[in-house]
Amino acid sequence: MGGKNFYCEYCDRSFKDVAEARKKHLSSLQHAKNKNWYYQSLKDPEQILAEESQKKPCMKFINQGNCPWDILCRYSHYTPAQMQELQNMVAAKAQKSSNLDLPDPQQVFQEFLKDIIDPEEIVRANINPWPLPPELAQYPNLPPSLQPITYDKFVDFEFTEWGQR
Ligand SMILES: [Zn+2]
Ligand SMILES: [Zn+2]
Repeated sequence: MGGKNFYCEYCDRSFKDVAEARKKHLSSLQHAKNKNWYYQSLKDPEQILAEESQKKPCMKFINQGNCPWDILCRYSHYTPAQMQELQNMVAAKAQKSSNLDLPDPQQVFQEFLKDIIDPEEIVRANINPWPLPPELAQYPNLPPSLQPITYDKFVDFEFTEWGQR
């Protein structure tokens, strides 16, 4: 017999690779439990919640605090408190992912408003929406076409009819 070993990664145990021993191990209850615990650990909280919600509570587990079937039990070993915790976890996860996908609409709206100048505010604060470039500001007698447009000028402006000048 060679020194070849058979390693079970679910149970983290090595065995002599003898067909009989391997078969015995793979059909053991402990191996089945370890294998199921492994796959349980890969599940999302959503999946566990969905599965556990389908099961009836295990009376043995509730009354005695343990159940020989462990993870293999067809009834749920989750207490109401643990189910609530699972539900909170799923809800928090859903909330978080929806926040990541969509920005807060209120925030988008405020961001949008930030760039809008209220026309009344322009008059009140005498804001010049079209400021004179600093290079031109140093010249005292700018021709009208180069002078900064102000709101006052804009409303008082009299359009000269074509051909009257
Ligand atoms: Zn195993
Ligand atoms: Zn049980």
